[in-house]
Amino acid sequence: MAWRCFFERNWPVAPVHWAFAALISGASAGPAAAADYAGPLFDAHLHYNTEAWDGRAGPHPLEDVLARMQRNGVRAIVANSRPNDGSKALAASPLTRQAGVSVVPFVRLYRDRADYDNWFRDESIYQMVLTELAAGTAAGPYRGIGEFHLYDSANANGPVAKKLMALAEDKGLVVLAHVDDVAIDLLMANTPSKGQKARLIWAHTGIGGASVARVDQLFAKYPQLVGELSYRPGLTCEGGKLCPEWRTLLLKYPTRFVIGSDTWVNQRWQYYDELMKGYRTWLGDLPPAMARGIAWDNAAGLFGMKQP
Ligand SMILES: [Zn+2]
Repeated sequence: MAWRCFFERNWPVAPVHWAFAALISGASAGPAAAADYAGPLFDAHLHYNTEAWDGRAGPHPLEDVLARMQRNGVRAIVANSRPNDGSKALAASPLTRQAGVSVVPFVRLYRDRADYDNWFRDESIYQMVLTELAAGTAAGPYRGIGEFHLYDSANANGPVAKKLMALAEDKGLVVLAHVDDVAIDLLMANTPSKGQKARLIWAHTGIGGASVARVDQLFAKYPQLVGELSYRPGLTCEGGKLCPEWRTLLLKYPTRFVIGSDTWVNQRWQYYDELMKGYRTWLGDLPPAMARGIAWDNAAGLFGMKQP
């Protein structure tokens, strides 16, 4: 039926349809339905790329993106951008402070799109990272490196990838990596502690859908590994609630998961409200302290930040 296709197609981005879908299927939320999580959010995977705002023009100037954060209760962000000017603008603007948003800047490895496929062997990227780290931002020193991508996990052994993993652990920087489970092992092997001290946020916790058992195995193996949950296949089920096996995994590692928007294209900014509402829906179904952990404390703890 046509309406059914419409719902399925629109399910992830249009929560307003959930209520209607439940109504026509005869389902009821019932008196025991949990309220949405209402506390502060830490967006631990945010991009402010040149397509959104290039410093002079674009559909999402600072006022716009900060208003989106503010009205969604986002009180802190891991900011990274292609090129790094977007993060630096967020870090420097008085508007950011007025919006009550704390900026945790990361050095992005991409000056432009061509760097996506070559950063792991490009010495000029390593030099750019050193230059950025030395300069810092108006919001303080950079606290991490990334997000970076590895479309072929073997490139985790590229010469610059190896040097950056060692540098990150040496300087206590957090790494934000969009990689598969195989690359997690390879990246960790390239740190001085063999992954025991490496502070790595796994973007999407495996966007390719690594099994829950495999994620569990990696979390057990690397005590500082943190999973960021945007785009994670299989995370949410009916009504935007956590799927059972993911709920079990989150309960097993309550201090190891964070949330993020991943505003990698402008469409993600347009759906920022829906993305944050989606998180609040399933967070509301967890024990309150744990919801607060995933929403705020886990990310804040990585960077030694206090409650907002
Ligand atoms: Zn991203």
